[in-house]
Amino acid sequence: MLALGAVPGRCPGCLRVSMFRGFYELHETCRICGVRYEGSDGAWLGAIALGYAIGALFVVALGMAELVWGPIRALGLDPLWTIAIASLPVTALGYRPAKGLWFALLYLGGFVVPDGIAEGDPP
Ligand SMILES: [Zn+2]
Repeated sequence: MLALGAVPGRCPGCLRVSMFRGFYELHETCRICGVRYEGSDGAWLGAIALGYAIGALFVVALGMAELVWGPIRALGLDPLWTIAIASLPVTALGYRPAKGLWFALLYLGGFVVPDGIAEGDPP
């Protein structure tokens, strides 16, 4: 339930509002439950790592598909370049759900808390 809500970027605290004010930017805190999203800088590393993992998964999946069925070669394109270029927008688009998922994990771990409660350090 929490992971399902986090992927579209919903607040991990109440699941009622979006954490995002732009495509990548987060609100400082939740206006419903007061969970603070903008914490320590270290919190971003996990979101970035998850975003790259989504891009890497895409590359592996496309590479496997190419090895098995050869759809890119059939189009007359170079598989390596096509996969490398196609992975860029996927990684960029994957960053947003990765960020939502990461903050849900931080929330589960007690690292993202409402204002006024003692904050732990992100891992
Ligand atoms: Zn909330």
